[in-house]
Amino acid sequence: MGRQRGEPGARPGAKALPPSERPTKVCPVCGRPFSWRKKWSSVWDEVIYCSDRCRRRR
Ligand SMILES: [Zn+2]
Repeated sequence: MGRQRGEPGARPGAKALPPSERPTKVCPVCGRPFSWRKKWSSVWDEVIYCSDRCRRRR
């Protein structure tokens, strides 16, 4: 049993991703795409806005 998502070279515990592998999201407030940041490494799934400013604006 196991789901594999076909991630080449997935390393558990890797903290810093190379730019080419960094995921991106689009901020619903300003409409701009923003990319993964190291400070979001543990909460990326919960990140919605590109910045605290946008988060407060809503
Ligand atoms: Zn924004």
